[in-house]
Amino acid sequence: MAHFLIRPELWHKIDLVRNRDVSAPGGWRYEAHLSVLADGYVSPATTIRRTQAAALDRVGGVDGNVSNLAVVSLPATGDRAHGKVLSSRITLTSDEQATLARQSKQTRDRNKALDRSRRASNPVHYRPSRPQQQRDERRAAKGLKPRRTTVPAGARTLNATGKPRQAHRRDELSNTYLRLRGRQTMAAACAAEASQHRARRLAAGLVAAHGARLTIEDCDIRSWFRRWGRACQATTPGRLIAALAAECAAVNGGRLLRASTFATALSQHCLCGRRAPKPLNQRTHHCDPDEGGCGLRGDRDLVAAALAAYTTLTDPDAPSTARLDILQARNAQIVFHQGLQEALTESTVDVSPPHSRGRSTTAAHPAPAHTQHRLPVPGPQTAASARRTAGTWITATPDETRTALLRPKAHAGTTRPHPDPSRTPLRDSS
Ligand SMILES: [Zn+2]
Repeated sequence: MAHFLIRPELWHKIDLVRNRDVSAPGGWRYEAHLSVLADGYVSPATTIRRTQAAALDRVGGVDGNVSNLAVVSLPATGDRAHGKVLSSRITLTSDEQATLARQSKQTRDRNKALDRSRRASNPVHYRPSRPQQQRDERRAAKGLKPRRTTVPAGARTLNATGKPRQAHRRDELSNTYLRLRGRQTMAAACAAEASQHRARRLAAGLVAAHGARLTIEDCDIRSWFRRWGRACQATTPGRLIAALAAECAAVNGGRLLRASTFATALSQHCLCGRRAPKPLNQRTHHCDPDEGGCGLRGDRDLVAAALAAYTTLTDPDAPSTARLDILQARNAQIVFHQGLQEALTESTVDVSPPHSRGRSTTAAHPAPAHTQHRLPVPGPQTAASARRTAGTWITATPDETRTALLRPKAHAGTTRPHPDPSRTPLRDSS
């Protein structure tokens, strides 16, 4: 905060933002957001990390898919004296999978409770379910009085045109429903924030290890979501790639280049230049010497990532101009022979963010000491940020006022902005 406000020439604005918080008085949590017309705050630790990344003379490739992200980098000079081949593979740890499963169960339970609450508050707009109808018929056949159904479990009642007789927005909603829906909104926002935070930390770790000159296949992630939506929702590949691109761009001279899959077909080639076609379910790469191959054996994604490092683009902004530089790839294969084979078999640099809660998976399955070392991923910066909550007010904050047209004494001109924007005065007291 002080970082920006000590510069009086800097244009700034402070917004009051409200977020759903069912536990706060009035159901909302209010925050003051400071916007400035300048670059955002960068902590000293981040500056040091990015300077070190800019000094790394490495080229790398990234292979992103539904379940993991593979990164392989080599010294840009192609000389073994200037560094080793490094590889990292980002997958969901068992802790993260357990957390996602728990959140998903909570969401399902809340949705079920919300549906039940809506039905209980609007029983006339739902039909009884088949078992409820059968029960009524059985009771009628025995001459018993029909039992009153408090929560009809069937479909919504429809009108002659096949549309719900009453729009959902006109339904009666109980206080329990509103509280529960608030919790659901909060949980979704929380999960999105956590996923974004994970992506940023992973990107920071990857760029710190592999440098900021990376190339990735230009994939349409929307098509992945159409086919493997649930898996993508858990691993969030798009968010990871976007965070990686942002981190690369933040490093001086760094950039995440995109190479067209059509022009390169990285997963269907070997480093020796031979075409090695394989179906999607075959997760290993083997260039069979019996068929005239070089004998390279490795993880499919890591091999594709290594190949991406040897992609050249005539125009960095046009993915279709990408071509595979087979000569350089073959040269690297000869120079880094043993190290390359090891790096393409398993991840050699672990950049997974340390988990704050629960058991660490690294401790449960320790990697061999000679192949794996953990990079220092900077911890949360506690000293630099402002306090999030300044205090609690004893009375609830009133709800927002109604829109101008619904207010009983709305005067034209006083509540609506002037139609001509050039005549709207800008008040600037600074
Ligand atoms: Zn080969």
